[in-house]
Amino acid sequence: GEHKVSNFLRQIIENDLDKGTYASRHWAGTPGDAAHHAAGPLDPAKIRTRFPPEPNGYLHVGHAKSICLNFGLARDYGGVCHMRFDDTNPEKEDTEYVNSILDAVQWLGFNWEANGQSHLFQASDYFDFMYRAAEYLITAGHAYVDEQTAEQMRAARGDFGKPGVDSPFRSRTPEQNLARFREMRDGAHEDGSMVLRAKIDMASPNINLRDPAIYRIRRATHHNTGDKWCIYPMYTFAHPIEDALEQITHSICTLEFEDQRPFYDWLMDRLCEGGLLAHPAPHQYEFARLNLTYVITSKRKLAQLVYDHKVSGWDDPRMPTIVGLRRRGYTPESIQLFAERIGVTKSDSWIDYSTLEGCLREDLENKAHRGMAVLDPVKLVLTNWAEAFGADDYTEDCTQPALPHSAIAEGQTPPPERVFKIGNEVWIEREDFEEVPPKGYKRLFPGNVVRLKGGYVIECTGCAKDASGTVTEVHAKVIPGTKSGTPGADSVKAKAAITWVSVASGVSAEVRLYDRLFSDPNPDAGGKDFIEALNPNSLKVVTAYVEPSLAAAKPDQKFQFERFGYFVADRVDHVAGSKPVFNRVTGLKDSWGK
Ligand code: ATP
Ligand code: MG
Ligand code: MG
Repeated sequence: GEHKVSNFLRQIIENDLDKGTYASRHWAGTPGDAAHHAAGPLDPAKIRTRFPPEPNGYLHVGHAKSICLNFGLARDYGGVCHMRFDDTNPEKEDTEYVNSILDAVQWLGFNWEANGQSHLFQASDYFDFMYRAAEYLITAGHAYVDEQTAEQMRAARGDFGKPGVDSPFRSRTPEQNLARFREMRDGAHEDGSMVLRAKIDMASPNINLRDPAIYRIRRATHHNTGDKWCIYPMYTFAHPIEDALEQITHSICTLEFEDQRPFYDWLMDRLCEGGLLAHPAPHQYEFARLNLTYVITSKRKLAQLVYDHKVSGWDDPRMPTIVGLRRRGYTPESIQLFAERIGVTKSDSWIDYSTLEGCLREDLENKAHRGMAVLDPVKLVLTNWAEAFGADDYTEDCTQPALPHSAIAEGQTPPPERVFKIGNEVWIEREDFEEVPPKGYKRLFPGNVVRLKGGYVIECTGCAKDASGTVTEVHAKVIPGTKSGTPGADSVKAKAAITWVSVASGVSAEVRLYDRLFSDPNPDAGGKDFIEALNPNSLKVVTAYVEPSLAAAKPDQKFQFERFGYFVADRVDHVAGSKPVFNRVTGLKDSWGK
C-alpha cells in the first residue's frame, strides 16, 4: 500500500474520533423507531460513511472516486461504509442497475460487510419513517401543504438578491395541513396539484431554504414498495433522514450539494428536537467531484452514447463506466491508486487523463507478463536458413523471461519462461524495414545487422515488392551461433533488437486498438454538443500475430506487449488458443525505438 496522504476529510474524522463526537448518541424525546433500525448500535470508536447511488445507470469513474473515498475511509479508520441504494425516485430505477452497481463496488475491492453483518440498505425501506417525519414537521408547525401551481411557486421563490413571497397557503394551521397531507397520501388529489413544503424562510439568502418542497404526489409504481405510495419524498428531504437512520457519522458528497447543507442541518435539528432522531446527527461534508479530461461523467450522456449506438454498450472499452474500464483492462488496484493520488479537495479542478493511464502502468509494470505481438505484419524470410540449419522447415525453441529481472521482488520465484519457436519465416512490423533508411534509422535496411529479440542476429539483404511498390517480403540472412542466451550471443554486434513472431508458432489474433472516445479534452463543457466531439478514430481493429503464450491467455489476463504497451485478453470475446482477442489498455510511457 501507498502512503495515505492526509486530506481535510481525514483531519475531520481524526478530530471526531479524538473528541468522541459520536461516542454517545441520544434522543431528546422518546426514541422513535429510528432506534431500532437495521444499522444497529454504533460502536463509538468507529465511523460510518455511505455510498448512496441512485440505481438509474451504470457507475462511472467519478463514482469510483466516491467509492474509494467512502469505503476507503471506513476501512482505514476501522469503521463501516454502508452500501445504500437511493431509490426514492420511483420511475427511474431498475434491478439491472442495482446488480451492476453491487458488482462494480465489489470488483473495485470493497464490500459492505462488517462484524459479520451486511450493511446493504435501500432508502425506500424508510418511506414509512419519512412519512411520519413529515407528519411531525406539520404538527410542529414546520411544514405546510402548498396548492399553488408549479409556476406560481417558482415565481414566488424570488432570486438572488430578491426575497421570495409567502404562499397564501403558508398560514394554514397544523390541523388543516395534516388533513390535507393525509388526503395527498390517500390519493384524493391529482399528481402535481399540491406539495408539502418545509416552512423555513422565504427571505433567506439561501434559496434552498425558501420553503423547499419535501413531498410530492406522483402515481408511479415503485420497484420496492409497489403501489403502496402515491406520494414520494424529495431527495433533499429523504437523504438526510437516510443518513440519520443509518447513524452515518460523515456524509460525504460532491460540492454541488454545499448549498443544501443548511437544509440538511435544519431538518436534522427539527427531527432531533422532536425526538425522532438521535443526536449528534450526521454531518455533511463536500468534496470536489472528479472531472477527467476527454471523459464525460454524466449518466444521462453516457446512456445516450449507448442508446445511439455510438459505443457497443455500457461495457464498451472506451466507456468511462466501471464495466467499461474493467473490460478495457484497468485493474481495481490501478483505480484505487488513481483515487488515492488525485486526493480530495474542496475546489473543482480537472485531472488529466494521463494520470489514470499512469496508475495502470504503475500497477502492471511488475505484474503483467511480457509477450511479443506483431500488429502490422510483413513477412521476413531468412533466405539462408536451410543452408545454416539443414532444412527450411527446421525450427528451434527460443526462451524469454515472462517478467524482467527488475520486476521480481527479493525472494520471489520468477514465473516460468516463455517458449516460442523460430523458423525460416517470421512476422515483423512493417515499420521495422526501410529500403532507403532515414537518417539515424537502426532497424532493418539492406546491409544492416539487427537482432530478432530473444533469437538470432540477422543481416538484411533486401526485399520483394508488388507492382505498386509495396513491400511484400523482407529478406535477410541468419547468422548462426548468435542466438540469445548462448555463448556466441555477443559475437556479432546488432544495431537494434526488433520484435517478431515466427510464422511457425505465431497465432493470428484480433487486436482492438482503442484511443480516447473524444478528441476534445472537455467534450461537454460550455454547452457543447458532446456527440460532435467524438473521436472518429477511437477504435482501430487489426489482425496481428502473437506468440503462443499470449494466445493461451485467460480472458481478462493482462500483458505487456513488448514495445507497444499494455493489453488485455477481452473478457467477452477472447477464446484462448482458437480465437484470441486483445484490447489495448494504454501505450508504454516512452515510445519504443524512436
Ligand atoms: P450522474 O450525475 O452521473 O447521474 P449522480 O451524482 O447523480 O451521477 P449518484 O448515483 O447520485 O449519481 O451518485 C452516487 C454518489 O457518487 C454520490 O455521492 C455522488 O456525489 C458521487 N459521484 C457522482 N459523480 C461523481 C464524480 N464525478 N466525482 C465524484 N463523485 C461522484
Ligand atoms: Mg444523483
Ligand atoms: Mg448528478
